[in-house]
Amino acid sequence: MPKNPDASRTPVTVVGLGLMGQALAGAFLRAGHPTTVWNRTPQKADQLVADGAQLADSVASAVTASRLVVLCVTDYDAVHGLLDPLGDVLDGRVLVNLTSGTSQAARETAEWAARWQDTVYLDGAIMASPAAIGTADALILYSGPKPAFDRYESALASLGAGKTYLGADHGLSSLYDVALLGLMWSVLNGFLQGAALLGTAGVEAATFAPFAQQGLGTVGDWLSGYARQIDEGSYPALDATIGTHLAAMEHLVHESEALGVNAELPRLVKALGDQAVADGRGDDGYAALIELFRKPAGRST
Ligand code: NAP
Repeated sequence: MPKNPDASRTPVTVVGLGLMGQALAGAFLRAGHPTTVWNRTPQKADQLVADGAQLADSVASAVTASRLVVLCVTDYDAVHGLLDPLGDVLDGRVLVNLTSGTSQAARETAEWAARWQDTVYLDGAIMASPAAIGTADALILYSGPKPAFDRYESALASLGAGKTYLGADHGLSSLYDVALLGLMWSVLNGFLQGAALLGTAGVEAATFAPFAQQGLGTVGDWLSGYARQIDEGSYPALDATIGTHLAAMEHLVHESEALGVNAELPRLVKALGDQAVADGRGDDGYAALIELFRKPAGRST
């Protein structure tokens, strides 16, 4: 771990030293950035200070220490609790908020930051564990003004090779965050449902896993074609109709109920198929279900 930061590298402040904030500050230090840190519980800075970080004695002095300020605390309320009292101290800072939250909170925080003429706000979402920070496996999503991202891109690259700029709308990183998390949970829930079903026949999850992995690869290959249909608003059944899917969904419900495993997820899947057929989309391809996902539940097309 470098104890002497490289004066040619962008100085950075990290506010929030939980599991993730410590990983972020550690990655900046390893990349040679002069790094100032602050945390409500200062003891969490001990290792970072031993590794060369400067511990600020207040949020205000932390924010003053570097033009680039990275924030990573529990939620946006905590961010505002820390920054709102600072007032004009924030003028001239580039705030990069990597705290998880909603797109609305991100957009509201961008509006709030715009009250200072020279304050720039970037929002971000971390799609990685603390252990992956600073490696090629860390995907971090950014949204907000592109010139600010471009200017600090090489400093932000210290946090992970997978830095991705999504666009000027500050809400985008949070929206991608929940979209990808939703995808992850859907996949994992489907796997667990399958493991529960097969478990009734004495099949171990480890035996099922390679089949699930192969199935995921196949489904993954369908996405670009379905995405084209969604964007064009036309859903020709090139592989199977929703009607055909619905028959198989019924098998999933019946198997789950008959075998005494949780049937809530299968029933939800079938309810979507039923609704699409009721809406006259039984002969369309599966991507037509987007019409149901675009509306609050219970409203037909
Ligand atoms: P954590 O270990 O629970 O740390 C939370 C941090 O927020 C601590 O520094 C805590 O300070 C600070 N904090 C909370 N409320 C505060 C307040 N009112 N005033 C001042 N400081 C406050 O959480 P984490 O894992 O670092 O996560 C931080 C953010 O990263 C979250 O938004 C999380 O969703 C996101 N994230 C985490 C992961 C992950 O794998 N850990 C992955 C992706 C995204 P104290 O130390 O004083 O309590």
